[in-house]
Amino acid sequence: MRLYHDEDVVPDLLREKAIAVIGYGNQGRAQALNLRDSGLNVIVGNRVDAYAARAKADRFAVHPIATAASLADVVLLLIPDEVMPEVFAAEVRSRLRQKSVLVFASGYAVAFGLLELPPGIDVVLLAPRMIGSGVRDAYVEGRGAPAFIGVAQDYSGQARAYALALAAGIGATRAGVVEVTFAQEAELDLFTEQCFGPAFGHVLTTSIDLLLEEGYPPEAVLLELYMSGEFAYTLGKIAELGMVEQASLHSTTSQYGSMSRGIRFQIPELRRKLREGLIEIRSGAFAREWAEEQAQGAPTLAMLREAARDMPLAALETELRRALGSASLGSHPVTPPPGPEARTPTQRRRLIARLQALLRRSARRPGPAAATLMAPTMGDVLPTPEAGAGGGTHTTLDTPMLRRVIEAFLSDAAADPALQAFSRGRGITSAYALTDAKLAFTLRFDDGEVTGGIGAPPEPSQVQLSMKADTFDRMLSGHLNATRATLAGDITFDGDARTALTIQRVQKDLIRLYGAARARVIG
Ligand code: NDP
Repeated sequence: MRLYHDEDVVPDLLREKAIAVIGYGNQGRAQALNLRDSGLNVIVGNRVDAYAARAKADRFAVHPIATAASLADVVLLLIPDEVMPEVFAAEVRSRLRQKSVLVFASGYAVAFGLLELPPGIDVVLLAPRMIGSGVRDAYVEGRGAPAFIGVAQDYSGQARAYALALAAGIGATRAGVVEVTFAQEAELDLFTEQCFGPAFGHVLTTSIDLLLEEGYPPEAVLLELYMSGEFAYTLGKIAELGMVEQASLHSTTSQYGSMSRGIRFQIPELRRKLREGLIEIRSGAFAREWAEEQAQGAPTLAMLREAARDMPLAALETELRRALGSASLGSHPVTPPPGPEARTPTQRRRLIARLQALLRRSARRPGPAAATLMAPTMGDVLPTPEAGAGGGTHTTLDTPMLRRVIEAFLSDAAADPALQAFSRGRGITSAYALTDAKLAFTLRFDDGEVTGGIGAPPEPSQVQLSMKADTFDRMLSGHLNATRATLAGDITFDGDARTALTIQRVQKDLIRLYGAARARVIG
């Protein structure tokens, strides 16, 4: 493994160069300030707005993007990846000087072929492994944030040297710089966001859910798991000392317990899911999906954000921060939201009662449980009850009755205008297996037509859901929170995540139709 440091940098390579930082956001501001403080000649390219005003306030010469690109020898494109193709094509590409150096902080656009790179220039990557404010803070403190560098086009024969010189300019070579390809950077980044992060999030939310269900006080649960900052501190120590060495910072009880019990969580399924995610990323399927989603105005993203809003976990966290008053949480001090500095025991009891009521309501079941604590991950992709549904009693159906309900539901679905409209331009097969009833059925959306039938799917299905018959019946009757059922392992999902998300858009219609069919059949 090769790690580059200050001594690997060719001195003065950038001394006579004009450097344009396009975009003055998270990375733009941090990198522009660091490069200037390193003695380099930096201008900023930005639209005329608050970002431009900030750059001016920081005493940079600010130009329109196209002008900045045409004035510079080195152009850092530090705008969001999703707008990059358009801005690059319209304002940057044709303005780049021959032999200039084009710099990206993310491999995404180049790796997934979203830009047409002109010949006659160097194209390099300088991707800090740190958010912008961290890049700046580390530099000011005399440290540096580590970074990846890479070369996609080496016209000058010095592309790597330029990337390293820029890395030195932002302080990264103080910490250490690793060379990767653009594709590796993009894939690793997406893997962290789409696989490692959500998998870890599930462990966290499942743990919270379980502990609340078992009656532990919500405040204690959150503090124990992450809000005290002990966990973040330990991660910091892992980064600093390594997984093995940091263990000595913990008690022997902790060491023995975690090492002897860790084997329980070596779940082969996890590796399979992580690999699935990686394949989707590497094939470019995710990048294509995201480009299409953006072209349609990002309706799925809006749906996911909506689902995340008012999550009980967020309310619980806010209340806990308030309840703790001005105490610092975590390894970084947190400014608590406005609220009383200290509460009386009665106020605190009321707070907990309110939280538990909130959690119970979201769970739609008795007991101090938290059902929808998780972020909108796979559990929310799966069918969830309509808001407001779920009250009242639930009659369990025997298999013949359930079969009749499903047949009626499928027949109604075929004639439903809302589902037909959804079906236009699509070809989706969703297969349901109700394991204990040995009952399977499919629902197909096929370019304006909705069809379905009892039995295994006649063709490979993109979405496969497997659960007990009663779980299914409760879920589509609005009596069961699918998120909770998924977390608890009562519903198993397999197949294409994107398609499952798409079907979620008509979930309310499916619940409406199922409820009507059920009421008709059972009388
Ligand atoms: P930001 O969202 O902070 O970028 C905001 C800047 O982009 C502003 O100057 C904004 O100006 C400009 N911008 C936004 N939309 C447009 C548009 N349509 N046309 C022109 N300019 C636009 O981006 P980040 O700093 O987060 O990301 C920049 C790059 O750095 C990306 O490639 C990202 O992947 C990478 N990166 C980001 C990290 C981070 O910490 N966030 C970490 C590592 C890499 P205005 O709206 O005024 O036009």
